[in-house]
Amino acid sequence: MNIKKNRNEKPDLLIVGAGPVGCVIAERAAKIKNWSCLIVEKRNHIAGNCYDEINKKGLRIHKYGPHYMRFKKRKIFDYVSNFTKWIKGNYIVKSSVKGELYPIPINLDTIEKFFNKKFKSSKEAKNFINTLKIRKKKIKNSEDFILSKLGKDIYENFYKNYTIKQWGIHPKNLNKSVVGRLPIRFNRDPYYVNQKLKVMPKKGYAHLFKNMIKNKKIKVLLNTSYEKIKNNISPSIATIYTGPPDVFFNYKYGKLNWRSLDFKFKTLKKNKIQECVQINFPNENKFTRKVEIKHVTKQKSKYSTISYEFPKSKGDPYYPVNNKKNSILFKKYKKLIKKMENKNIYFEGRLASYRYLNMDEVIECALNLFNKLKKKYK
Ligand SMILES: Cc1cc2nc3c(=O)[nH]c(=O)nc-3n(C[C@H](O)[C@H](O)[C@H](O)COP(=O)(O)OP(=O)(O)OC[C@H]3O[C@@H](n4cnc5c(N)ncnc54)[C@H](O)[C@@H]3O)c2cc1C
Repeated sequence: MNIKKNRNEKPDLLIVGAGPVGCVIAERAAKIKNWSCLIVEKRNHIAGNCYDEINKKGLRIHKYGPHYMRFKKRKIFDYVSNFTKWIKGNYIVKSSVKGELYPIPINLDTIEKFFNKKFKSSKEAKNFINTLKIRKKKIKNSEDFILSKLGKDIYENFYKNYTIKQWGIHPKNLNKSVVGRLPIRFNRDPYYVNQKLKVMPKKGYAHLFKNMIKNKKIKVLLNTSYEKIKNNISPSIATIYTGPPDVFFNYKYGKLNWRSLDFKFKTLKKNKIQECVQINFPNENKFTRKVEIKHVTKQKSKYSTISYEFPKSKGDPYYPVNNKKNSILFKKYKKLIKKMENKNIYFEGRLASYRYLNMDEVIECALNLFNKLKKKYK
């Protein structure tokens, strides 16, 4: 960006980050309030971590890991449906344990196969699992949580090593919410997510978010970080910041920890490479999961692409590390964030709120923030 040329730029809203939150706020502000919006994005594309692209063999790949869209609320689905057509999203995930594939989340089929038993009803399976549970007075962490729900064998084969690989931290030192996000089922529901509204954008996420910000009142500057332009561009109404809080405050209280991933893509001349979209590897290999996104994009091709995910502690911030140290640190930043509202700077999104949030959840947060701005700045 040519900063000199843009010295006098004065958008109504300055939006930092062209992820879902940035795009939703810009769309609403331009459409409902006719506010001019400038989005600055440090990457060379929009759509944040949901970004997808077409590779050399014409296959759509999810650059930052598989994004399985699902909606808890119909009204959020209706809003996003303004910008895309959908295809069904029946995501199936399995876990590879001792050479066998088991349904994930753990369900009745997983339990039967793993323990080589047949149950006549969910109740019978629950009674069996009850005999394995390790009762805890207080559930202090992820290990306690799974031991108390499913017992030692399932914990050790499906959860323990996967968690260590994924987070670089023993489950004893992780908040119970980390493993608690995955349902545990005593029925035969094979799908990865509980929500009934599970869909994939027909032409992908980049296309969806490009449609969202089509309005002429919205300008996007790619390859531009907030830090580079903050002294040169002052919005007339407000700034919306969707990046990490510790970066914004110049690490005043220290660094928040994030978990990152390396993605390795491999394309083969094969219609399908594996039997479902995602296979987890808790106990072997350095990667945690293998994803063949073609199962859900439903593309027709004689080629298919697999991505391997290797967790690491440095790199792009993907997952907030939910432990005691970080939660204390974030509480301190939160106080500063609240004060910034007096300066018309608002924090929103998965990075800014240091929370694991799915796409539908951040879209809802963005819509709520826009409603707040709309009332405040008439
Ligand atoms: C590996 C992985 C898998 C996921 N899978 C799913 C899934 O299956 N289903 C689901 O619903 N959700 C999933 N998510 C979550 C989903 O990606 C997020 O909910 C969503 O992207 C959050 O949107 P956001 O706008 O808050 O942040 P982001 O998408 O992270 O966008 C923020 C943008 O801000 C930019 N930015 C940050 N700081 C600055 C700065 N200082 N200057 C300029 N630009 C900046 C970043 O480059 C980024 O593009 C997954 C996330 C990850 C990491």
